[in-house]
Amino acid sequence: MQDSDRQKLQQLISDELVSVKQHIEELEARCQPISPDNAIGRLSRMEAIGERGVHQTALAAANERMQALQTALRRIDEDDDYGICERCDENIPLARLMLMPESRYCVRCLQSEE
Ligand SMILES: [Zn+2]
Repeated sequence: MQDSDRQKLQQLISDELVSVKQHIEELEARCQPISPDNAIGRLSRMEAIGERGVHQTALAAANERMQALQTALRRIDEDDDYGICERCDENIPLARLMLMPESRYCVRCLQSEE
């Protein structure tokens, strides 16, 4: 991988981490316990609890993404094999890394896994 591409990806991951962290904070605020006498407005308590479940699922996914991005950021810095598919050793296309810099597999290997 060229240094200029590496730098571009590092920047991309850093930016992405900032927005994922913001997203996590928002979701955490929405996952606060709902007190029985809380004025929820239009939503009934059951609906509020259902909503909270949705936010908790989103929060778990966001946390996972944050960890994957942090791993990618460390690997891009330290490992020569960043951007190489962990299964078939082919280069992961740069366009894919730009979209999903935390990618560890090429599209083909990812599809064969599912
Ligand atoms: Zn592969």
